[in-house]
Amino acid sequence: IIDIIDLQKSFKFSGNRLSILRNINLSVHTGEFLAIMGPSGSGKSTLMNIIGLMDRPSSGSYQLLGHEAGNLLEEERCQLRNQKMGFVFQSFNLLPRFSAQRNVEIPMLYGGLAPVERKRRARELLERVGLSHRLHHRPIELSGGERQRVGIARALANQPSVILADEPTGNLDQRTGREILHLFRELLEEGKTILMVTHDLDVAKWADRIVTIQDGSIVAPEESVVVIPKIESRTSQEQQR
Ligand code: ATP
Ligand code: MG
Repeated sequence: IIDIIDLQKSFKFSGNRLSILRNINLSVHTGEFLAIMGPSGSGKSTLMNIIGLMDRPSSGSYQLLGHEAGNLLEEERCQLRNQKMGFVFQSFNLLPRFSAQRNVEIPMLYGGLAPVERKRRARELLERVGLSHRLHHRPIELSGGERQRVGIARALANQPSVILADEPTGNLDQRTGREILHLFRELLEEGKTILMVTHDLDVAKWADRIVTIQDGSIVAPEESVVVIPKIESRTSQEQQR
């Protein structure tokens, strides 16, 4: 469903070229649950942004659902992103003034659904994540785990094929994090493909496969220096510099 070949990404920053992703090769199959690990600043979010069609690679090939992303017009990229991908964020990114239900409706606004139908579907999705009793709560009136479940319901709004989750359990305690991971495993059974970035090896173990970004490349776990969450912090990054 995802095929990335020799992908590079660099940023221009105050006159310098920062080469972040140097040589990424990665294939993800339909129905797979992949965890991406790597030190802070290694380019995990950068890669997720490219996969989510929010950013473009500097060079290399990225195929998504049979489309070469580089050949798509901006409008086609938008459409593919809205219809085929769902996003889950570490800090939930819900709109604070809107109820859970309205937050879930937001991505549907592009689909031309009738308002009644949007409401119905949002309710269904919130039920799906166990929040039928919290439809009209605003984010501030919800717990962290509940907010993330709203986030997941929103990600599912347009029945995406691929779910991209950048540190989805990063702001949650262990138990609540596990509930979210359970939910992901259920979504897999419904045929979704999930890519998840995490710092936490215990979280990554819920995936079918773990890869690590090191020095701008993807390495399989057996090739990687085993990432132990405790060492994997900003301090270890700073030590490397
Ligand atoms: P973390 O685990 O801390 O979230 P990450 O692996 O997700 O880190 P990225 O956010 O992908 O890291 O950033 C990788 C590097 O690219 C960082 O050093 C960052 O400063 C740099 N970077 C990201 N976006 C830009 C940009 N728009 N311009 C310049 N540099 C950038
Ligand atoms: Mg990141």
